[in-house]
Amino acid sequence: MKTVKTDVVIVGGGAAGCFAALELHRKGIACVVVCKGLVGKSGASIFAGNLVLSGQVLGNTPEQARNTGEFLVKYHNQFLIDQHWARRCGAWVESEYYAELERAGLYFRRDAEGNVVTSPGKIRSVAANVQGNSGVPFMDLRRKQLARAGIPTIEETAVTALLHGRDGRVRGVFGLSVLTGEPIVVQGQSVILATGYSDRLHSRSTGTREMSADGLAMAWRAGADLLNLEMQWWHTNDVAHPPSWERMQIYPNPILGSPKSARMVNAAGEEFFNQQDDDPMAFGPYTVQLKALVKQVRAGKASYSGGYFAGFNHMNPAEVNAYTTYGKPYYQLGLDPAKDLLETAVTAHYRQGGVRVDTATMKTSVPGLFVAGGLGGHSNGLIALATFDGKTVAEGVADELGFVAVADLNDRDIQAETYRLEKLRQSDGDGESPFAIKEKIRGAMWNGAGVEKSAATLEEALANLRRIREFDLPAMRLKNRTKIANYEWLDAIDVHNMIDAAELVVHSSLERRESRGPFIRTDFPDTDNLDWLAANVMVKTENGFRFERVPYETPYFQPGFDRRDNMLVAW
Ligand SMILES: Cc1cc2nc3c(=O)[nH]c(=O)nc-3n(C[C@H](O)[C@H](O)[C@H](O)COP(=O)(O)OP(=O)(O)OC[C@H]3O[C@@H](n4cnc5c(N)ncnc54)[C@H](O)[C@@H]3O)c2cc1C
Repeated sequence: MKTVKTDVVIVGGGAAGCFAALELHRKGIACVVVCKGLVGKSGASIFAGNLVLSGQVLGNTPEQARNTGEFLVKYHNQFLIDQHWARRCGAWVESEYYAELERAGLYFRRDAEGNVVTSPGKIRSVAANVQGNSGVPFMDLRRKQLARAGIPTIEETAVTALLHGRDGRVRGVFGLSVLTGEPIVVQGQSVILATGYSDRLHSRSTGTREMSADGLAMAWRAGADLLNLEMQWWHTNDVAHPPSWERMQIYPNPILGSPKSARMVNAAGEEFFNQQDDDPMAFGPYTVQLKALVKQVRAGKASYSGGYFAGFNHMNPAEVNAYTTYGKPYYQLGLDPAKDLLETAVTAHYRQGGVRVDTATMKTSVPGLFVAGGLGGHSNGLIALATFDGKTVAEGVADELGFVAVADLNDRDIQAETYRLEKLRQSDGDGESPFAIKEKIRGAMWNGAGVEKSAATLEEALANLRRIREFDLPAMRLKNRTKIANYEWLDAIDVHNMIDAAELVVHSSLERRESRGPFIRTDFPDTDNLDWLAANVMVKTENGFRFERVPYETPYFQPGFDRRDNMLVAW
C-alpha cells in the first residue's frame, strides 16, 4: 500500500482547503492536499459569481459595512450563526482578504477610468473579471499559488475513510485514485476536512458530480457532532432545462454596473418578483425570492420543478452584458435577453449546517479532526468565509501540533477499508446500478425533503431511504469491475455516503419543529425564536443519535420578535 507521510492532511481543493494549505505552508508546516477532483477546479468554489464587499473597503460607507454584517447574520444565516465569529471574519475580510488577492494577482473588474466596478445597494459586490464567473479566476489563482509554493497535491483521489492512530486520534485518510484504482494512505498528525457543502443530494442541485456528502458521512462515522443539517438553501432562478444547466442562474440580485436585475414571472405571465420593487437593492437575496415563489406554487401558478420564468427583458441588454455572464444562456439558446424569458426551477443550493466546530480553532468533537469551509456548520457559504476558515483552521492545527504525540496508524482501519472498497467493486447483485440508486436517493429527498415539507413527507422520505438501504444497496450491480477510471465503482462508494447523509438531514429536519427562512415546514409554519433560535445538534450515541438544542447568542443583531409566520418574516 502506498503511504505518504506529512504533518497535516487536507481533504478538498476548494477555497477553504487551498487557503488552509497556503497558511500552513507559510507557517512552515508540511501538508498534503488530497482532492477528489482537481485542486482549484472542483467543488463549489469555481461557481462563485461575485465577491461581497465587507467592512469599509472600496468606499463602503459605515452603513454599508453594518448592512453587510446584518445581511450575513439575518438573511444569510437566519440568526443560526456565532455572531462573534461573524465579526472576526468580517474584520479579516476587510483588512486582509482583498489585499492578499490583489497582491497575488487577482483582477477585480475595473471601468474605463480604472475604478473597481461594484454592484450598487445596501451591500455591494465586486467581480473577478466578470460577474457570474469570479470563482474560476479566483481558484485558478489558488491552484497556481499552491504549485508555486511546492505544496504536494494528490488529485482525482477520493478520500473514502478517516484513519485513526493507535491512540484513537484521527491521523490520516484512506484514498482511492479514481484514474488508477490504486489505494493510498496519507498519514499526518491531524486531518482537515474541507469537502464543501454543495452536495448533490436532491434531484436538482447546484452541486457537482463529486459532491456526494463524503465529508459529512466520514465525520459522522468518526463520531463528530453535526448541527443544523436541515438548513438547506435553494436557488429559485436556475435554468429548468436541460438538466446539465441546472446550476446556471438567472441572477436575481443587483448586478455590477446596474441597479436592476432579473425578474420572475409565473405561468400566467404575471410578474411576481422584481428586485427593485420587492427587495430594493437586494438586502436579502435567495430566501426572499424563495418565499415569493412558495406563494406562487401554493396558488398553482408555478412548481418547484419549473413552470415559471426569469429574465432581463425589462432591461437594456447592454447593462447585463457589460460586466456579467448572465446573458450567455440566452445567446447559446438563440434567444434574445431583451425579449425572451427562460423557464426556471428550484435547485438545492448549499447547506447552512454541517459538522460542529469550535469557531476559534475549527476543531471538531473528534480528536485530530478539523473542518474548514462549507462542511462546517457555523455559517452559510460565501467564498470569503470559506477562505477565512482556511486561515482559522491553519492556526488551530498549528497551535495544537506541538502537543501531539507521535503514534502509528491502526492497521485494522486500513484493512477494513481495503476490504470494503474491494467488496463494492465486486458488487454483482441482481439490482440496479449505483448511478440509478443515486438518482433514487435524490428523488426521495426532492419529494420528501424538498422546499416545503412536513412530518408526513419527511417520514415518507425516511421510509424510502430505508427501503433503498435495505433492498437496493445489497442488490447493487456493477457492470464494470475494472480498477482503472471506474466511475461506476466511485458511484458505488458515493452512494453509501449519500444515503447516510440524506438520512441524517431528514432526521434533523424532523427535529426542527418550526419554519425559518428557507426551511419551510407546512406543519410548523412559524419562525419560533423562543424555542428554536438554537443550533439543532446531532450527537452520535451507541445505538444511534440524540439531539441537543444549543441557543445562539445575539450580541449584535436580534430578530425582534418571538414567533411569527415565516412567510411574513422578511428574512
Ligand atoms: C452555484 C454556486 C454559486 C455560488 N455563488 C457564490 C458567490 O457569488 N459568491 C460567493 O462568495 N460564494 C458563492 N458560492 C459559495 C462558495 O462557492 C462556497 O461557499 C465556497 O466556495 C465553498 O468552498 P469550500 O472550499 O468549502 O468547498 P468546495 O469549493 O465545494 O470544495 C470542496 C472540495 O472538496 C473536494 N472533495 C469532495 N469530496 C471529497 C473526497 N471524498 N475526497 C477528496 N476530496 C473531496 C472537491 O473535489 C472540492 O475540491 C456559490 C456556490 C455555488 C454552488
